Amino acid sequence: MPEAKKSKIFCPCCPKWEIKRPEQCSNTLLHKRKKLYFCTKRCKERFEKDPEKFV
Ligand SMILES: [Zn+2]
Repeated sequence: MPEAKKSKIFCPCCPKWEIKRPEQCSNTLLHKRKKLYFCTKRCKERFEKDPEKFV
């Protein structure tokens, strides 16, 4: 059975950083009803400070 095509998830702060295992990602944030994944805690903090910059 072919694997279902999932859209890739990227860290909003690092567009080239793909979150390959979102289920294991602990740096998440709910933003405007959308769950976001961050590669590091620092990225998450950067985003929280200025979310408009990244959306
Ligand atoms: Zn990042």
